[in-house]
Amino acid sequence: MNDTAIYVHVPYCKSKCGYCDFCSSPDVSTVDAYVSELIHRIKAYKTEQSVKSIYFGGGTPTYIGADRLCLILDAILSNFSISNGCEITAEANPGTVDINGLKLMKKAGFNRLSAGIQTANESELKALGRVSHTVTDGARLVRNAREAGFENINLDLMYGIPGQTPESLDHSLDFVLQLKPEHISAYALKLEEGTPLYKQKPVLPDDDTTADMYAQINAKLKANGYNRYEISNFAKPGYESRHNLRYWQGGDYIGFGLAAASLTGNTRYLQSPDMKEFLSGNAPDVVETLDAAGREAEYIMLHLRLSSGVDKDEYKEKFKLDFDKKFEKQIKTYTDGGFAVNTDKSFYLSDSGIFVSNTIITDFIY
Ligand code: SF4
Repeated sequence: MNDTAIYVHVPYCKSKCGYCDFCSSPDVSTVDAYVSELIHRIKAYKTEQSVKSIYFGGGTPTYIGADRLCLILDAILSNFSISNGCEITAEANPGTVDINGLKLMKKAGFNRLSAGIQTANESELKALGRVSHTVTDGARLVRNAREAGFENINLDLMYGIPGQTPESLDHSLDFVLQLKPEHISAYALKLEEGTPLYKQKPVLPDDDTTADMYAQINAKLKANGYNRYEISNFAKPGYESRHNLRYWQGGDYIGFGLAAASLTGNTRYLQSPDMKEFLSGNAPDVVETLDAAGREAEYIMLHLRLSSGVDKDEYKEKFKLDFDKKFEKQIKTYTDGGFAVNTDKSFYLSDSGIFVSNTIITDFIY
């Protein structure tokens, strides 16, 4: 493939949320060394591929300051061939960047902001152990981003939170909708082993309630003009995240930073997850070659999460297999049951199929 994308990992956060198992820490003592090492690696990277999207994730990129983010972006823009209209996103959390910082970022080239709002209920923020911001901080961040000129904003929402009810979720949805984002991501809370929230053993809404919450989100966002283009992602027409679509469609990408992954063809590279090792610059990447079966399973899993589904011609070209023949039994089961739609060109899950997608995907890949 002659194009790629860039991911930059910024592993710092104002405080650690109770449910978080991402590679992030509130200890910023290494931040300057980290930014230098990132810039060094970015400048040393050579590729002929043009870059279609750039994504700063974390962690909380904005926590290290807009000026540092702009320095890193500048190194990328001057070292790579950047496609016209390149989508350049930074994740931001409320209370970590002000209007001046946002203006600086916009001027430097960032054109999309992804803000972790999660809920409009203070008690739910507390239940999540998300103590670094309030609901009002979230609204302020979005207003400031608009004023700074951002015309493409994603807001993250969570459901399945301890204590959350259909009514409180509805309040969060209204709150998010009145901020008029172009894109909304809605993820169910997962209790990851080892996190403080996991250890607290909180009472979560049961599976049926959580499934009803997902249905509630779908219905409300659809009624407000958002298309669900991936199981957890909704966008106004034309605002689907190009960067995330690349991951889901199996395209190449280059990752910079702690524990960042890259994919080139069938080879995955993993940078060290250990800060000392990363900063030493001496730790070689872990290299993993994906076998055909693994690539195929991943392709099916990711494509069945997309509303466009599996493109049969593309599948044949990639894996030299006929999708209809190989999955004849599964296709019949799920189309007969109304859970999927099978056309000459593609196979995708219907609205009812989306609600039981885990079961269907498992049936295809195991
Ligand atoms: S803001 Fe995100 S990355 Fe940072 S601690 Fe919270 S969940 Fe983890």
